[in-house]
Amino acid sequence: MGGGQLGRMFCHAAQSLGYRVAVLDPAPEGPAASVADMHIQADYDDETALIKLAQRCRAVTTEFENVPAKSLLTLAAHCRVTPGSHAVEIVQDRIAEKAFIVSQGVAVAPYAAIRAESDLRAAGPHLFPGILKVARLGYDGKGQARVRSLDEALKAFAEFGGVPCVLEAMLDLKQELSVVLARGLDGQCAVFPVACNVHEQGILAVTTVDMQAAPMTARATEAALAIARGLKYEGVLCVEFFVLGDGQLLVNEIAPRPHNSGHFSMNACVTSQFEQQARVMAGLPLGSTRLLAPVVMLNILGDVWYPGVDDTQAEPNWAGVLAVPGTSLHLYGKREARRARKMGHVNCTGTTLADAVSHANQVVQVLRLPVS
Ligand code: ADP
Ligand code: MG
Repeated sequence: MGGGQLGRMFCHAAQSLGYRVAVLDPAPEGPAASVADMHIQADYDDETALIKLAQRCRAVTTEFENVPAKSLLTLAAHCRVTPGSHAVEIVQDRIAEKAFIVSQGVAVAPYAAIRAESDLRAAGPHLFPGILKVARLGYDGKGQARVRSLDEALKAFAEFGGVPCVLEAMLDLKQELSVVLARGLDGQCAVFPVACNVHEQGILAVTTVDMQAAPMTARATEAALAIARGLKYEGVLCVEFFVLGDGQLLVNEIAPRPHNSGHFSMNACVTSQFEQQARVMAGLPLGSTRLLAPVVMLNILGDVWYPGVDDTQAEPNWAGVLAVPGTSLHLYGKREARRARKMGHVNCTGTTLADAVSHANQVVQVLRLPVS
């Protein structure tokens, strides 16, 4: 379910294991549909298309969290669906998601559920300055407004059309981490090494993973496992964390699918997060998540196609990227390069972390990526 880059990389991994993949995506073409063995072009709630997909497939998964939970339920009457609708339903709504995380004894940022203006008025000064986030359908920083005061929050809430939101206190983040894990049909878990993430304008820019475990690894891993177990999760899941200056570890959000911050696994781990997803679906043993080399993952956004101040496009210097030792380039085959659109990523490995960082710095120079 879903036709973006995560679906594309899942197709590649499943096909490497000998499977054939059908993609349901309403768009006429896209990153996943163009590599799938079959494309069912239909809306995510099209009953006829869902039945067709279920009849063709032994197992179904999703590459984005906004697939209607009801559609997963429909599919589950006919074939294996991982993750299940119960987990996706919680995770796709920030209000339900935060309540669930807290119920598992895991901390989140100070927040309030906002369903009406009166909830904003009752929110209290500790949530300002804050971020108002729509409860559903936000991604890559979309559907979010930074608000300094109640007045700004009321204005942003109105601009979002009064849809349910969460208001979160704006935190001074020392670091962002994420844990990607797979939980099999038998409840066994395989956890990837903890990733350290840097975001720019609400979009992931850089992930770094070292052979030496990141700080907070044990606590973050434990929290992610508690969440996966609590959701009775089957499949690949990512938990994003905030680390504060005083050592507090908070969960930001959960993604019920492989995650951008797990892309390093494609070149730096024995098994990639996408292969792991295929293994869960097929009821196969989970693969080793062992890190083979220190790695820096750099996201490539459409901005790279616009080197000047005007809107003139130029093809980025891929040869220059590939000339840097230890780099693996992954492009998603999107037809149109738009600013802030995820177009691909580069994994830069090295024998040491310093080596991987040096390779990454060279790629940053070649592509003139806006990261320091
Ligand atoms: P998305 O669903 O778009 O990924 P997130 O809630 O993960 O949205 O926010 C994207 C990024 O914005 C985070 O990774 C973080 O860098 C920043 N951010 C989000 N919430 C907060 C917060 N409460 N305080 C500080 N930074 C935040
Ligand atoms: Mg996020």
